[in-house]
Amino acid sequence: MISRLTKTVPDYPQPGISFKDLTPVFADGPALHALVQALVEPFAGQFDAVAGVEARGFLLAAAAAYATGTGVITVRKAGKLPREVYREEYVLEYGRAALELHKGDVPAGSRVLILDDVLATGGTLSAAAKLFERAGVHVAGFGVVLELGELRGRAALAGHRVRSLMRL
Ligand code: AMP
Repeated sequence: MISRLTKTVPDYPQPGISFKDLTPVFADGPALHALVQALVEPFAGQFDAVAGVEARGFLLAAAAAYATGTGVITVRKAGKLPREVYREEYVLEYGRAALELHKGDVPAGSRVLILDDVLATGGTLSAAAKLFERAGVHVAGFGVVLELGELRGRAALAGHRVRSLMRL
């Protein structure tokens, strides 16, 4: 289902990158329902909130939080959050970036499940985890729809549980 609905866009957003566009997966009701269930199921009872990484991770995190009766936390790209933030810089498959988390949005000592659409080099999710760790929040694990295995993102997340629904 995921592979049938995923669109591959060559050389986007720059030459050499094979972009995996999951928006058709999200647009399909049964697919969205099944993948959100599959992402949260291994972590049942182990998290108090679900975090999504901007922007496609927000869709998954909001759905997963709603489905499990937990809160949703936004991990945003730099400069979007209005209050005091934790900030982590990281290297992307295509460029550099920074992620931010509002201070005080998640209580210290709570547990968070972090979701995103694609795991590539793991830089993004690793930076997201560091934000929560700085806030004293336990990272229960990571969930992604698609893992690009040859980029070895899982190694960058060593020590954490990673649930990926499909590996390419
Ligand atoms: P990385 O930090 O290298 O693991 O990259 C993961 C983040 O970048 C996710 O938020 C993805 O949405 C995006 N991303 C990286 N590479 C791709 C790709 N080939 N196709 C789609 N999204 C990607």
